[in-house]
Amino acid sequence: MEPPQSLLCRGFCSPNGGVKTTLGEHWCQNHLADQQLYLLLEKVDLDLAEAARQLGCLYCAGKLYRGDYERKPRGGPEWDLRFSFCCSQCRRRCTPESVRFLGRRIYAGLVVVLVSAMAHGLKPERVRRLRETLQIDHRTLERWREWWLGLFVGSSFWKEARSRFAPPVCTKTLPLSLCLSFQVERTDGLVGLLRFLAPLTTPWAGKELVM
Ligand SMILES: [Zn+2]
Repeated sequence: MEPPQSLLCRGFCSPNGGVKTTLGEHWCQNHLADQQLYLLLEKVDLDLAEAARQLGCLYCAGKLYRGDYERKPRGGPEWDLRFSFCCSQCRRRCTPESVRFLGRRIYAGLVVVLVSAMAHGLKPERVRRLRETLQIDHRTLERWREWWLGLFVGSSFWKEARSRFAPPVCTKTLPLSLCLSFQVERTDGLVGLLRFLAPLTTPWAGKELVM
């Protein structure tokens, strides 16, 4: 039996799971052009890094020292470092959660979220133009789509998190349905969504969800 359709995407979803509107084009473009947002996300990442540093090594509780590594995501922001630490005792690397980098993807996390959402929210022609502006290959976008609807939906993270949403989030239009739920047209909504996804961005969590 089909699960009940989320209230949020009622009216957006067609019976085959697609969405027929121009929903979200403005938020997507506004956010991707917002330099203040990029600065804010970097600041959130610094806070997440500081919290991880204070916690110490996850393996041996040893003291952590800064061991950032180079990471230049495509698709807008001019970030160049992923904040990371190394343990002074066991020497292992501890990489904190991030609102900027979604796992090992070469595009910034917000690009993966917003453009994947637009693939449900816009007509194919508009999606193609958006893709071309950001130089995202159609196979890449297809992989993202499969990831959201497959690995993400099946992950232990989502199985646990989904019950927190009322009304429930439609899993056929992810991540557009999550964008609607978090009201990502507002900056704090988008940061909230990226913060929600942040547990998926550590290398350990990433293993289950690797593309
Ligand atoms: Zn250690």
